[in-house]
Amino acid sequence: MADFSMDLNEDQEQIKKWVHDFAEQVVRPAGHEWDEREETPWPIIEEAAKIGMYSWEFVAQCFGDPTGLTFPIVSEEMSWGDAGITLAIFGTTLAVAGIVGNGTPEQVAEWVPQCFGTPDDIHVGAFAVSEPDAGSDVSSLRTRAVYDEAKDEWVINGTKAWITNGGIDKVPNVHVVVASVDPELKARGHASFVVPPGTPGLRMGQKYKKHGIRASHTAEVVLDDVRVPGSCLLGGKEKLDARLARAREGKSSKVQAAMSTFEATRPLVGAQALGIGRAAYEYALDYAKERRAFGKAIIENQAIAFKLADMKMEIDAARLLVWRAAWMAATQKPFESGEGSMSKLKAGEVAVWATEQAIQILGGYGYTREYPVEQWHRDSKIYTIFEGTSEIQRLVIARAISGVHIP
Ligand SMILES: Cc1cc2nc3c(=O)[nH]c(=O)nc-3n(C[C@H](O)[C@H](O)[C@H](O)COP(=O)(O)OP(=O)(O)OC[C@H]3O[C@@H](n4cnc5c(N)ncnc54)[C@H](O)[C@@H]3O)c2cc1C
Repeated sequence: MADFSMDLNEDQEQIKKWVHDFAEQVVRPAGHEWDEREETPWPIIEEAAKIGMYSWEFVAQCFGDPTGLTFPIVSEEMSWGDAGITLAIFGTTLAVAGIVGNGTPEQVAEWVPQCFGTPDDIHVGAFAVSEPDAGSDVSSLRTRAVYDEAKDEWVINGTKAWITNGGIDKVPNVHVVVASVDPELKARGHASFVVPPGTPGLRMGQKYKKHGIRASHTAEVVLDDVRVPGSCLLGGKEKLDARLARAREGKSSKVQAAMSTFEATRPLVGAQALGIGRAAYEYALDYAKERRAFGKAIIENQAIAFKLADMKMEIDAARLLVWRAAWMAATQKPFESGEGSMSKLKAGEVAVWATEQAIQILGGYGYTREYPVEQWHRDSKIYTIFEGTSEIQRLVIARAISGVHIP
C-alpha cells in the first residue's frame, strides 16, 4: 500500500462538509449585510457557538489533527462563505495561539476556555502585539510591563494598534498583550501577559473603518496602569528570568523557537485567503457560462476561459503550499526554507489577484455592490498585510534559503 496520499480521511471529510454547510447556509447569506454594517456579527457567532464551532473543544480538535490539515480545511471553507465573518468567529484563536504558544499547561487550562465562554455566555479573545510605531518591526514595541514585587503584580502601560477584537467590552474579553520587560534587549526582552476580562485601565481607543473584512472588529487598545497578577505572565517568572539572563549574556535562546511557532500559524491565515480566492473563481466560472455577449457565452472566448484556467491552477497551487506547511508544522518538520511564509505569501497574493480577475470577468456588474466579487476583492487585500506583510514573508524566505541576514 502506498504511504503517500492526497486523500482527506473520513474525519476531515466530515468536518469539511459540516463547516461548508454552515458557511453556505449561514455565513455566505449574511456576508453582505455585515460588510455594510461594519459591526461584529454577534448573532452569527452565537449560531456558531450553538453548534459547537465557536468553542475551545472544536479548536482543540482542529489543532489536534496529527496531519495538520483540519484547521486549514475549516479556515478555507468558512472564508469561502465570508472572510470578515470568519475573522469575527476565529479572531479569538489568535489569543488562543498566544496562550498555547507561551503559557504553562495550567495557564492554558485556565485561560483558553475563557476565551470562548459558552453558547449562553459568549466571550472573545484578542492578541495585541502591533503598535502605532511597531508593526513589521516588532522589536520596537514601546508598551512596557514593570514588575511590582511587593504586590506580585505586573503594571502594563502602552497603546496597541490594529487589534482584532481589541477592546470589545460588550462581552468578556481575554486580551493577550505582548510587552517589553527589558527594552535594551529589544525582541528578546518581550513577554506575553493575559489581561483578564474587565481589568481596570484597559480600554478601546479608536475603532478603524476599513477597506475590507468589515465584519471583523479592529481597534486600538489603550493600557493605562493596567495591573495583572504575577500568574498572568505567560510561562511564569522563573522561565522569563532565565531567558532574560541568557539574553543579557548574549547566549542563544528560544527566540528562534518562538519565531517558528509564529510561522506555524501562517498556513491558517493563508487558508482563509484561499477560501476567498476559491469563492471568486467559482462565482466567475458560473457567471462566464451564463453571461452572453456577441451571441455566445463569454467563456467561449479564450481570453475569459484562460483567465479561469489560471485562477483554478493558482488556487490549487496555493492550497498545496498551505497544506504542506500545515503538515510540516503538525509533524514538527523545521521550516528550513520559510515554508510557513511561502504558504501565506502565495495564498494572499493569489486571493488578491483572483478576486480582481473575477471582477474583470463580471465586467460592470463585478464592480457593483450588487454582486459579491467586489467585496471579496476588498476582503482579500488584508492577506498581503496582516500576520506579516508580503515583503516581510519574502524577507523570511530569503534569509532562510540564503543563510544571509538580509536587512
Ligand atoms: C485589519 C487588521 C487586523 C490586524 N489584527 C492584528 C491583531 O489582531 N494583532 C496584532 O498584533 N496586529 C494586528 N494587525 C497589525 C498587522 O499585523 C500590521 O499592520 C502589519 O504587521 C504591518 O505593520 P504596519 O501596519 O505597521 O506596517 P509597516 O511595518 O509600517 O510597513 C509598511 C510597509 O513597509 C514595508 N516594510 C516594512 N519593513 C520592511 C522591510 N524590512 N523590508 C521591506 N519592506 C518593509 C511593509 O511590508 C509595508 O509594505 C492587524 C492589522 C490590520 C490592518
